[in-house]
Amino acid sequence: MIGNNMDKFGYSISKGRQINYEANDRKIAEYIYENEPSFRLCIECGGCSATCTTGNLTKFSLRELFVLIKRGENDQIWQNLKKCMLCGKCTLVCPRGVNTRNIVVLARQAFQKSNDYAI
Ligand code: SF4
Ligand code: SF4
Repeated sequence: MIGNNMDKFGYSISKGRQINYEANDRKIAEYIYENEPSFRLCIECGGCSATCTTGNLTKFSLRELFVLIKRGENDQIWQNLKKCMLCGKCTLVCPRGVNTRNIVVLARQAFQKSNDYAI
């Protein structure tokens, strides 16, 4: 029991920070991986967020969005996904050549297909 051993030292993993890949819904991520393989190249550096027009005016973060998609933490994604203006600036600066704009488009498609979300 790792948790119990850690308790002996006065700390434990916060439940809210645990990521359960087994239980999380990875359908959105899988759909993107299949249709835009460059998504696998993302190293979560944040370069896209730094240049993002929406991100400079609101709390929107493309990097954070990508992390949540990969984790399958989809509940927090949809409202933010709609904020992207599809301007493509993030795609121009990505050091890994990730087609970020297309990933946003595919994520929207995947949400609409799987959950009947309306844009
Ligand atoms: S700039 Fe590219 S590699 Fe960096 S977080 Fe954005 S998509 Fe990922
Ligand atoms: S395409 Fe979307 S995420 Fe990328 S810079 Fe433009 S508004 Fe930001």
